[in-house]
Amino acid sequence: MKNQNVNLNKVYNLSRVPEGVYSIDESGIVNLYLILGEKKAMLVDTGMASGNLAGVVSGITDLSVIVVNTHGHCDHICGNYQFETIYAPEKDLKLMKTFSNISLRIIAILKNLAKGQGPKYSTIKRNNRKPVIPFGDGAVFDLGGRTIRAFEIPGHTRGSVLLFDEQNRLLFSGDSIQRGQMWMFLKESIPLASYLESLKKVRDIVIKSSIVFPSHTESFAGTEVVDELINGIGNILNGTATGDPFRKFFIEGRKYDMESCCVIYNPRRLFAERREGFNL
Ligand SMILES: [Zn+2]
Repeated sequence: MKNQNVNLNKVYNLSRVPEGVYSIDESGIVNLYLILGEKKAMLVDTGMASGNLAGVVSGITDLSVIVVNTHGHCDHICGNYQFETIYAPEKDLKLMKTFSNISLRIIAILKNLAKGQGPKYSTIKRNNRKPVIPFGDGAVFDLGGRTIRAFEIPGHTRGSVLLFDEQNRLLFSGDSIQRGQMWMFLKESIPLASYLESLKKVRDIVIKSSIVFPSHTESFAGTEVVDELINGIGNILNGTATGDPFRKFFIEGRKYDMESCCVIYNPRRLFAERREGFNL
């Protein structure tokens, strides 16, 4: 690490994880990851920007940094404005416009951070939108000595991606595969059957990974969760399992618990695309 005395703004907690990767925990809300190559560094997501993230990153490395977003939600993209080169999943570009809205960002920061953490209200009021370079399935990011490949995994959002470090078999899974709650009930989530197809498509990559780094829970071995999700969702879709009622953000869903994770889904949108709601 370049400088051990990085000012973490009371917001960011830094830890070194294997193979030249740093985990940056933003107030226990979201994990961001900095992957160091020989020529470039990649920052996986930028969180809510409740502090000086760019300062934290430049305290770790002098390498030029590219940002790659795993999907378009507020808690993953709002710090983009602090960086110069930003890649974003092409199928989430519209969603990003919605979720980088300044009001939503202020609500997310004020609601999630403990009192005294994060920026003053007045400093949050700035334009945090910046041009992005869209990317899609199979995109390869060459960091020098390590390549990161993107795999689309439509489900949580239409444009969600997994980012796979091919040399080190590390997988950065965003909100698409993790222990704990898998949110598939949101208005911008796609039908559960489509998420199941996505999981089957990426299963080999997940199994191949030595460690999976998700955005909201601890890292884990991929085999633990992916087959559980595939089996559990299969049971929901064939009618042999059903979840308990669940409600968040004024949206009704059902929560189905498995051994190490659970899926929250919309029982009215198991197979078909919705015909109403957000047009994202
Ligand atoms: Zn998300």
